[in-house]
Amino acid sequence: MQKQTTGGVDIKGYVNSIETFGLVDGPGVRFVVFMQGCNMRCKYCHNPETWKLSCAEEWTPKDLFNKAYRYKTYWKDNGGITVSGGEALLQIDFITEFFKLAKEKNIQTVLDTSGNPFTREEEFYSKFVELMKYTDIVILDIKEMDEEKHKNITGFTNQNILDMARCLSDMGKEMWIRRVLVPGLTDDEEDLHKTKEFIDSLKTVSKVEILPYHTLGVFKWEKLGIKYPLDGVKVPSEEEIEKAKKILGI
Ligand code: SF4
Repeated sequence: MQKQTTGGVDIKGYVNSIETFGLVDGPGVRFVVFMQGCNMRCKYCHNPETWKLSCAEEWTPKDLFNKAYRYKTYWKDNGGITVSGGEALLQIDFITEFFKLAKEKNIQTVLDTSGNPFTREEEFYSKFVELMKYTDIVILDIKEMDEEKHKNITGFTNQNILDMARCLSDMGKEMWIRRVLVPGLTDDEEDLHKTKEFIDSLKTVSKVEILPYHTLGVFKWEKLGIKYPLDGVKVPSEEEIEKAKKILGI
């Protein structure tokens, strides 16, 4: 779907939606771009409408940046631009050009990703290294440490995602790590301890966050005619959240 030409002039990005006053996806107030497309199928996904890489608005990096830049007075010293999804790395050429424009104006850039497209193979890896030149912080989900459980939750291995975290650590790139807490699915104590051990092995993690599971996106599954796999699963209690936070050292 993505069109690329020399210099990035004709690249088009497929954008699902934009939040002009985001407060959770990175530091301060942020212009958040939710890119279209994701290969994973997380059972708790609250944005299933972003999965298909079609049915989205087309933007050029310049037009999108010009729109974002109108909000710069809100960003003050610590806000900026975040690209999220869906899975933003599926449109790596587009977000690289978009972030390049942001860095020309010295704006802070955050990439919020599941890490699923990451590989050290070419040509992805060179593109990733290039993108990191213009990215200040990466927010990475570690959905589960156990590979089989990860496959059960998302349909995919987590080995390349953990490798991405190591790669970012070696690059010296600041990271936030996130974990969605779903009772009975991602709150296994042993796995949380393993997650903590893994996070401690990384050199550049500045923040760890628990995102409590919620059911606000269930209607979207129904609207798309897809059976919701977590029917009947309750949101975590305050105690469950506190217990997980304690294990992760938050
Ligand atoms: S990675 Fe994110 S967007 Fe993709 S299926 Fe999982 S929760 Fe949904």
